Amino acid sequence: MDHLTPGARSENMRNITARDTRPELAIRRCLYAAGFRYRLHLKELPGRPDIVLRRSKTAIYVNGCFWHGHCCQRGRLPKSNVPYWARKIGCNVRRDRRNAARLRGSGWRRVVVWECELKDPGKLERRLLRVLKPRGGRCMQ
Ligand SMILES: [Zn+2]
Repeated sequence: MDHLTPGARSENMRNITARDTRPELAIRRCLYAAGFRYRLHLKELPGRPDIVLRRSKTAIYVNGCFWHGHCCQRGRLPKSNVPYWARKIGCNVRRDRRNAARLRGSGWRRVVVWECELKDPGKLERRLLRVLKPRGGRCMQ
């Protein structure tokens, strides 16, 4: 069952060419099945969150561990060109922090989902549903 509007679908297609959105798609399916309705990639919010729940003023960012400097295996810097990568990733991390502050400053809630959390979809699902408190439903199996 495809629930995407034509606009969302073409947005989706553009993103697939731009980067790997499999984690994001899994999360969207989960939220939809749990009764959430969302907007995607809202430019007017800091950092252009991937999934936006307007009603509860919640912005969800699906972050790649490497690019956003997560402290996990995938977030490790490559062994060559260390100064280059450290600067680049450090820049992204600072930008994320600035965006987080701006978002919270305007009364929004920020939820970050890390790419590595997708390794255990059941656990991620429980966390998301706990944080977002939906009307019910299960997904991501
Ligand atoms: Zn990670």
